[in-house]
Amino acid sequence: MKREDALFDASFIDEDQINRILAKTRRESVSSAPAPLLAIIDRAREAQGLSLEDAAKLLFCEDEAVLGELFRAANAIKQKIYGRRMVFFAPLYLSSFCVNNCLYCGYRRDNKFERHRLTMDEIKAEIRALERMGHKRLALECGEDPRECDLDYLEEAISTIYGVREGNGRIRRVNVNIAATDVENYRRLKKAQIGTYILFQETYHRETYRKMHPSGPKRDYDYHTTAHHRAMSAGIDDVGLGVLFGLYDYHFEALALLRHAQALEESFGVGPHTLSVPRLRPAEGVDLQTFPHLVADRDLKKIVAVLRLAVPYTGLIISTREEPALRDELFSLGISQLSAGSSTDVGGYASASGNGALRSSAPPQFHLSDRRPPDEVIADLCRKDFLPSFCTACYRQGRTGDHFMPLAKDGSIQNMCQPNAILTFKEYLLDYASPEVRSLGEKTITQHLALIPSARTRVETESRLERLTQGERDLYF
Ligand code: SF4
Repeated sequence: MKREDALFDASFIDEDQINRILAKTRRESVSSAPAPLLAIIDRAREAQGLSLEDAAKLLFCEDEAVLGELFRAANAIKQKIYGRRMVFFAPLYLSSFCVNNCLYCGYRRDNKFERHRLTMDEIKAEIRALERMGHKRLALECGEDPRECDLDYLEEAISTIYGVREGNGRIRRVNVNIAATDVENYRRLKKAQIGTYILFQETYHRETYRKMHPSGPKRDYDYHTTAHHRAMSAGIDDVGLGVLFGLYDYHFEALALLRHAQALEESFGVGPHTLSVPRLRPAEGVDLQTFPHLVADRDLKKIVAVLRLAVPYTGLIISTREEPALRDELFSLGISQLSAGSSTDVGGYASASGNGALRSSAPPQFHLSDRRPPDEVIADLCRKDFLPSFCTACYRQGRTGDHFMPLAKDGSIQNMCQPNAILTFKEYLLDYASPEVRSLGEKTITQHLALIPSARTRVETESRLERLTQGERDLYF
């Protein structure tokens, strides 16, 4: 398909092709021996990715011994490419107005509650609360409403966010998760200096998509599914894809997600920056019993591990929808970014910190399972030998899209990511951490300094750590 055609025509998601692969794999998986699956896993250890056929075979695997091998390989690939780094972000809900009626969402039009859009002063209060938690990277979220939450408002919000200073705090990267729009609007978002443009597909299965979106502009499958192509045509290098697992058969969804990533790579020479794997959660007016494709914990682990093998250089994101214990397991299977201390309420951060008034009748978009503050999550990560990171350097250094991939593939990015993780974590320890986390974190830094591949960069990192202690901020490679 030509690049221009893919701007509005989502036939790159070929359901017949995906169904053929799934049907063949399902038939063969009944009698499949472990050896061919182990061979696929072995080849994938080279970080060359997986074909859709091989991904399907692993998704159908139920053999515990093979799954154990799959999880070990996913962990090894993650270690090779990302080390033990875990990048933090927080969602910021700007507006609960929505003209759509998505059946899985608390913000849907038919749910009656008092809706609210944050004023610029309220946004500042939210940002101060987020900065006091140590966050540097946000994902803006809002319902779709061209009147209440138009692009002028979003541009003003982004500029307001970048302008807020709280102590040493400053938001350094604003990712944006807004409804599918046109190329001109994506150009405006690019100019507003967004980081990643994120849009979840929810479901790639056309019939399920129709059922889940009974009305509103989001009902247009083709327009929604081609949004990332338009964003990339407009010059946004980093885009994020995602599926809401639980709406339709996860085997189909995972393959379609990978096919979407391939289609972007075919058109632009680079695939998505991130994939998200949210699962359906309870929300206002959402009864999980009515969804027949809910995904079990074990299957989510399999999905994450297969994605890690299939797209080794693409970030994988997990949110606070999941329980702490499961999030921990997923970190070792390929997740590279996590949210923490999240609120899915409009105005929720300032209100929780006693500096704002949440509209009392407004429900959150969905319910959360991990409500721990970032400091607690960080302590836990340190105890498990992970390195928390608040890095936003690549985007600010122009290492995005196809400028980033060669660095990732030849491994030279390790001499940037590891020191930047250490430096941003040090800032967190100096400015936000509790005494207990500070002491734990210092040990983490010592341990991870030794893992910087280049001796010269290691020495320079030590020198910059000292400069941070002396009061400088925002030092990065
Ligand atoms: S998922 Fe998004 S578009 Fe759909 S109802 Fe919720 S906020 Fe609106």
